[in-house]
Amino acid sequence: MSIQINPNIPVNNCKICGARPVIEQTKNSWIIVCPTPACKNQVADKLINFDAWNRQNV
Ligand SMILES: [Zn+2]
Repeated sequence: MSIQINPNIPVNNCKICGARPVIEQTKNSWIIVCPTPACKNQVADKLINFDAWNRQNV
């Protein structure tokens, strides 16, 4: 299940396709992921890591 990111949170769009990312949770991590299936642009970490996503998508 994908979770929408609150519009108040400054998060860069996917640098590959321009989509706003969403969040998915697995047993051991939180993943910020591009919603475009073919894109596969994501950042997984123990906590939601917006800094890493934003650095990756400048
Ligand atoms: Zn993308």
